[in-house]
Amino acid sequence: MFWRLVSFLLCQAFAVVVVWLLDTGSQRLTLMAFAALAGGYVWLLLDSLRAWRLLQWLRSGDTAHIPLGSGFWGELLDRVRKLVRHRDRALSDSELRLQEFLAALQASPNGVLLLDAEGRIEWFNQTAGRHFGLDASRDMLQHLGNLVRDPAFAAYYAVRDYSEDVVMQGRSSSNSVPVKLSVHMHPYGDGRSLLLSRDITALEQAEAMRRDFVANVSHEIRTPLTVLAGFVETLQSLPLNEDERHRYLELMSQQAQRMQTLVSDLLTLSRLEGSPPPPSQDWVPVQSLMAQCKRDAHDLSSVLWGVERELIFEMDAGLEIAGAVTELHSAMFNLIGNAIRYSPADKPIEVRCSALPQGGAVFSVKDQGAGIAPEHIPRLTERFYRVDRSRSRETGGTGLGLAIVKHVAQRHGAELSIESAPGKGSCFAIRFAPQRVQRPHAGSGSPLQIRGGVRA
Ligand code: ADP
Repeated sequence: MFWRLVSFLLCQAFAVVVVWLLDTGSQRLTLMAFAALAGGYVWLLLDSLRAWRLLQWLRSGDTAHIPLGSGFWGELLDRVRKLVRHRDRALSDSELRLQEFLAALQASPNGVLLLDAEGRIEWFNQTAGRHFGLDASRDMLQHLGNLVRDPAFAAYYAVRDYSEDVVMQGRSSSNSVPVKLSVHMHPYGDGRSLLLSRDITALEQAEAMRRDFVANVSHEIRTPLTVLAGFVETLQSLPLNEDERHRYLELMSQQAQRMQTLVSDLLTLSRLEGSPPPPSQDWVPVQSLMAQCKRDAHDLSSVLWGVERELIFEMDAGLEIAGAVTELHSAMFNLIGNAIRYSPADKPIEVRCSALPQGGAVFSVKDQGAGIAPEHIPRLTERFYRVDRSRSRETGGTGLGLAIVKHVAQRHGAELSIESAPGKGSCFAIRFAPQRVQRPHAGSGSPLQIRGGVRA
């Protein structure tokens, strides 16, 4: 400010000195007074010009090109420039933070949607877009109530009681691929709302499966229990002779056995689900597994059919599989047992375990039974799924055998495949991956056979 005053006075003094030097007449003093005034005007003109340039720059808002100068206006400009630069930096910092924040919300596995006080969509992430079928280029600032028409959501939105969430169908939901969403509205600020959506399809399916499972188990146990209770009542209330007593006790024992098998299969399944993965260094010789399966198969066949049936067991010599011996035996014998139970006694059953040329091995059980229609095949490994319900029950089936086989296969990194056609028999196979199979004592390469209990 001091220099501003000095420059003003210097300008006037300069004009006065010029006049004083040029004019020596009697009017000198008057002219010097005018010169001082004129000098003041010139200074004012120059000063206004610089002020005007500053004003122009401020009006243009062009922060990239700053008309730098000196003096009062130059300093003023410099200070304004610093303030603007500081504000720009703060703005770009907060813009960056906002972008990072939005990117984090985009990455959320849940849907996030922001509504203004009128219920118009201000922003939503991709998950919310997918859940509600929204398109960012089309639906921004549209009323949410007009776009999401699910009846459950519409009622929730209309009542405006947001203390709990609401379950609704996802936009992409169909009969074959149902999608269930849990949606919760959270009001905030001056009438705005945050809407969170979560895909709960898997949870709902797990809950439905749990309900089905409990219902199935109850049903399976109720039938033999009812029969048992009936026999107990008969034994208590009727005078029976020795033969009748014996017969009733025999039937009661069968029902008790059926419940025992069911409980044992259920325990096997829960053990498979809860236990650590089977060891990958414990090598189980296939030959001993097959020999045990063969003994058990003969026993089962005699109990069920009362005859020795033709069972062909064939395997590559020296084959070993890494895993848990009890689980492997259970899976293999479940398949052999099914072949015995679901095919006539006069038809042979072929059980094979052979190394594959590309590594790994395949265990297969082939029967010449009635076969299975294609629509049942994908569902056979579901718990309690049966094609022939009465045959399964008659032969002591629980409906859990193939579920156990599938589980054991998965735990051993193997795959269960089923080939079957009505009237053509069935072939169930477990394919083991190369890392689970070895042949340290491989023989001549010709398959080892066990026929009718005699190794050939
Ligand atoms: P189950 O204890 O009833 O045999 P599984 O899970 O072992 O239960 O088998 C499921 C269903 O698959 C059986 O009820 C039967 O209808 C069908 N099934 C299984 N193996 C065979 C087979 N080898 N031949 C024909 N049907 C079979």
